[in-house]
Amino acid sequence: MKETQQHLLNTFLSLVKIDSESYNEGKIQAFVAGELKKLGCRVQVDNAGKKFKTTAKGNVIGFLPGTIKSAPFVLVAHLDTVTPGNGVKPLVQKTEITSDGKTILGADDKAGVATALELVRYLQTRKLPHPPVEIVFTLCEENGMGGSKNLDISLIKGREGLVLDHEEINDLLVQGPAVNTIEVTIKGLAAHAGVCPEKGISAVEVAAYAIAQMKLGRIDKETVANIGLIQGGKATNIVTEEVYLKGEARSLAEAKLAKQTAHMKACFEAAAKKFTKKINGKICCPKITFNVIKRYSAVNVSKTHPVVKAVLKAAKEQGVIIRANASGGGCDANVLSGKGFTLPNLGLGVRNCHTVHEKLLLKEFFAAFEIVLQTVLNYKK
Ligand SMILES: [Zn+2]
Repeated sequence: MKETQQHLLNTFLSLVKIDSESYNEGKIQAFVAGELKKLGCRVQVDNAGKKFKTTAKGNVIGFLPGTIKSAPFVLVAHLDTVTPGNGVKPLVQKTEITSDGKTILGADDKAGVATALELVRYLQTRKLPHPPVEIVFTLCEENGMGGSKNLDISLIKGREGLVLDHEEINDLLVQGPAVNTIEVTIKGLAAHAGVCPEKGISAVEVAAYAIAQMKLGRIDKETVANIGLIQGGKATNIVTEEVYLKGEARSLAEAKLAKQTAHMKACFEAAAKKFTKKINGKICCPKITFNVIKRYSAVNVSKTHPVVKAVLKAAKEQGVIIRANASGGGCDANVLSGKGFTLPNLGLGVRNCHTVHEKLLLKEFFAAFEIVLQTVLNYKK
């Protein structure tokens, strides 16, 4: 094993032994800030930790000065893990690292954290010409991306780089959907269903009518929508007064997401109109409350973007085939894309993440490091 690989492995093993489930990132935040300082970086910790309940103060940002004139290259990885992530006992085998089967391994995303730390060490010891590098270690990615959502981007100068938080090395995620969560409350009018149903407005019927008119499922190549939850009603003899629905829409194109969201709203409003009626001489209209929560923005990096091209070139040199792909989910790249960053997401050789069968394939992990290294070395802007 090469010296760099041994360092990378040791750093990874130290990291996974630190408990850092989401909201408990205090210890790992202190550890990585200390490591970055030891490696000669200027380190700042923002105040993102005040925005949600966590043991950490904030996201960690490490600044490595460049030896060539260029905008900084940004590397992003997250410090938190899913559960069960406490007391990880990594088992190093010939070709992979696993946990003991009782916990996750935490390669998601400590493989990324280790890669960024080792990159800094490598650049500092080899005296190679390189651009400035800004390392961003975020909190709470696994639980709604609280860290990147509250990241103090005024501290960061670079706007291009890589997120190191994906599984297979053969995937470079350049597209990811923007997502809206949709919450709807329909308020009808309760009445005795046996005695005077004409005096009621059934929120169930309003909901059913709205959904029947709605385009759902696969809308087009880039857009999907779903109503995932319906709650309401009290008894069979009561015209249902209130129904609560929850759904979502996703699209790789922000404009299409806005269009689909507006369409869903319009269906509920049309249903409310349809079920408006006169009761005891008074016009009664079901009330619709339609709330949209923007979960995250779309990632849409051109396949000809210099960072993408540099990654593909470096991969080829490593004998690795990487395809620029779209993802169906979201990560820090989506949130930061909404804040003006261009960050394709590179796979690091992780498998079965979010399970106790999670593992890190050493061959891919080491190749990914070389790809990141070459991409950074070739970056100039
Ligand atoms: Zn992750």
